[in-house]
Amino acid sequence: MQVWVDPEGTADINSVRQLPASAWQPVARRDASFGYSQYAYWLRVSLQNPSDEAINWVLLIGNPLLDRLDAYGLDGDRVYQAGDQRPFHQRWIDNRQLVLPFSLAAGEQRELILRMQTDGAANLSASLMSAEAFNHHEQRMLLLQGLFFGALLVMLIYNLSIFSITRDRNYLWYSLFVASFSVYQFIQLGFAFQWLWPNSLAWQQLSFPLSSGLATLFGICFTYGILDLKSQPPAYTWISRTLQGCSLLVMALALTAPYQVALFGSFALLIVCAIAGCIITALRWRAGYAQAKLFALGWSALVIASLFSVLSGTGVIANSLLTLHAQQIGSLLELVIFSIALGSRIRQAQNDYQLAQVRLFAKEHQLRMEQAKSLNLQRQINEGLEARVQERTASLEQVLNELSTANQQLAELSRRDNLTGLFNRQVLNEELERMLAQAKRSRQSIAVLMMDLDHFKQVNDRYGHLLGDACLQHAAQRMQQRMRGNDLLVRFGGEEFAVVLGDTDLFGAMDLAEQLREDLDTHPCQQHGLSISLSLSIGVYALIPDATCSREHLLQQADQALYRAKAAGRNQVIGQESNALDDA
Ligand code: GH3
Ligand code: MG
Ligand code: MG
Repeated sequence: MQVWVDPEGTADINSVRQLPASAWQPVARRDASFGYSQYAYWLRVSLQNPSDEAINWVLLIGNPLLDRLDAYGLDGDRVYQAGDQRPFHQRWIDNRQLVLPFSLAAGEQRELILRMQTDGAANLSASLMSAEAFNHHEQRMLLLQGLFFGALLVMLIYNLSIFSITRDRNYLWYSLFVASFSVYQFIQLGFAFQWLWPNSLAWQQLSFPLSSGLATLFGICFTYGILDLKSQPPAYTWISRTLQGCSLLVMALALTAPYQVALFGSFALLIVCAIAGCIITALRWRAGYAQAKLFALGWSALVIASLFSVLSGTGVIANSLLTLHAQQIGSLLELVIFSIALGSRIRQAQNDYQLAQVRLFAKEHQLRMEQAKSLNLQRQINEGLEARVQERTASLEQVLNELSTANQQLAELSRRDNLTGLFNRQVLNEELERMLAQAKRSRQSIAVLMMDLDHFKQVNDRYGHLLGDACLQHAAQRMQQRMRGNDLLVRFGGEEFAVVLGDTDLFGAMDLAEQLREDLDTHPCQQHGLSISLSLSIGVYALIPDATCSREHLLQQADQALYRAKAAGRNQVIGQESNALDDA
């Protein structure tokens, strides 16, 4: 194959046929790749059928994105005109690739001249084969391509389903990535032009970089999500946002800028994203993010596939069926690995959930234990408190009892005379009042005895005050022995005593007084071997009191009787009749 380059693109077939042989240069590369330019490339190939029978041939141009291809010498004067910048129906054979059929008679030699002009990668990737071999090859290829796109479709449906169930955005991004990548491949392999938009030439041209930009954009979204870059230092987010912005820019370029600018933009973006993706994945792997491992594997497959795509597209490596397949296999591998990475996310989420549940149970258990402990403690405190309160209450009650007893004793003491133990004068006042009131109510007689020890001063003088005291106690004791239940004996003061007798008339009172006097007279006080004789003078007064009768009156009358007993010579009893009141 030989080539003549027409930079202007103005030469026609006649002028090319008249070119001198020296103008033609041999084509250096097997795939006849000339990189990116808008030159017109004229290619000349000389064919010969050495056999003795006619053979149907096919020249297969394996570059579906070639803009314009003209072929001369295939079928007499008929010119083959096709490419993706010409309506699809102009092709002689309906195929996603450019298929140029011709037949050579036995021993025939023919020169084919091709004119190639394209905005994209100018490569012919031509294969010459028999029509039979082409049919066979094509059937096999269609099966493989069907498998490839079928796999992509399954992956798309599968991940969309998972998204609709889990609502995990990563599955959506991945589904959109698979969808846009499928469209990108569908366009690159020529299926889109054949089946989707056979007459939309402008759209066909811009759809390739557009789909590339779209796939890159979704790829970034997916990567950002699955590597959990949001939770990482903000630099990751800045890089992702910048690359997403670049993807949008590439798409905008595809829609507005010349084809070549958009194409180079998309290639550059793809390379940058592949490198950035590799680095970020490696960093995340090193940081211990488990899912980054699988992701790194997927990335390497994608990078290899992308490199094949870009390098063969730009003509750095020979474009052949092998590069096309390697690219498809690489991308398929990457998509499957990403799918597995996504699947492991579910596993991870399950594990996380189980772990969280276990932790929750443990926490709950711990809380229950602590609750029980604190309840126990509270009970103990309550019990202790109760016991202490009971203890305190008991001791308080005891103290109160003691206090009350002490009070009673004190009250009793305050009613008693210290020396003799008899009631004191205050009790006499109270009791006499009460008994007088009762006698008035029941109209009964009441009697009062006033008693005084005779010459007691002399006893003190003679024996001393201590013995005098003992004599007072002795006298009190003797008198007390003679008292009945309702009788009241008090120490009136000094060596004087008084007795109040309820329901007793003068006669009864005189009788008791006489007994008392006689008892003391006949029972001297025995102390320290001494026998101290004592005698008693008693004044008695008794009456049935009327309403006007007062306590003072009773005491006064009894005292007067006592005075008379003293005056009459002591150691005797003198009674005073109630009529003496009138005398008084
Ligand atoms: P009279 O027969 O006229 O009653 O003569 P008296 O000495 O008993 O009477 P007086 O009123 O002159 O004296 C009473 C004496 O009683 C004086 C006092 O020393 C004595 N006395 C009074 N109270 C007590 C006391 O508590 N203890 C002692 N030891 N003597 C007392
Ligand atoms: Mg006296
Ligand atoms: Mg006296």
